[in-house]
Amino acid sequence: MLFFTASAAEVRNVPVTGTPRKEPIKQVVIHATGGASCDSNRRFQSGTFNGIVAHFLRNKNRISIHYIIDRNGDLIRMVPESQVAYHVRGHNMNSIGIELINNGDGLDPFPEPQLATLITLLREILSRYQLTTSHLKSHAELDNAYLHCGKLKIKRKSDPGAAFPWQRLIRELTPNRANLIVVTHNAKINALQKLLHQWTERETHLRIRLKAVLSDQRDAKTALNWSWKQPYKAQTTALEQEQYDLRMASIQETIDQLKRRETELRLELQGFIQAKQNAKAMLRQLRAKLNATL
Ligand SMILES: [Zn+2]
Repeated sequence: MLFFTASAAEVRNVPVTGTPRKEPIKQVVIHATGGASCDSNRRFQSGTFNGIVAHFLRNKNRISIHYIIDRNGDLIRMVPESQVAYHVRGHNMNSIGIELINNGDGLDPFPEPQLATLITLLREILSRYQLTTSHLKSHAELDNAYLHCGKLKIKRKSDPGAAFPWQRLIRELTPNRANLIVVTHNAKINALQKLLHQWTERETHLRIRLKAVLSDQRDAKTALNWSWKQPYKAQTTALEQEQYDLRMASIQETIDQLKRRETELRLELQGFIQAKQNAKAMLRQLRAKLNATL
């Protein structure tokens, strides 16, 4: 599987075994590592990349996750997608979980490299399981339990939080009309270029054959002229005369055949030249439309 070939982000495997999947993947849950807690010292603290990985390893019998993305875009794979991880109450069986290192307090911004890795990863996941952006869920919307911290009642899960750019994510992961125009135009341009290349080869081939036919015609005409110029012999026998006539007729027949071939070749050539002109005009139009789209 090709992973992040165009990205500078580091990808590491820290394998954790999950349980076998029995249900198809139907949702992808986005988390932030920071969140609500009764302990005010731990409340909305993102933790560090390595710290979170260690936390998941220490507690792997209780909680687990498929992916963790650091603020700088580095990615860790833990539980394989083919296995169930435990990251969201009641929705683990049919989901993939992604943790983002973030305080999850609605203030801590999600940096660009982190979002870039997330979008690349999500694009692959959505396409692998034929899902759309409607299958992306926040942990907050799937878990509505509350924490009772003495007199204080707070929502247990609010991640990834208000600072997470859902609109942008959906925009970037939705195949829009402009994208589709670019894709279809590029496909048409490629097909036309391939055709033009084939036609140019065919044209070159036809020109070579035409040249040979014209050269043969010149040779035949030279032979005919040379025969006409043979000095008249007084004592030409009937047989000699017959042979001479046959030879002249044969040369003339060859010249006629070559002329017919020349006409055919010129017609065929003209067809290819016209087709190439049309294809070039279409290419210019497609490129202009493409430029207008971009
Ligand atoms: Zn969460």
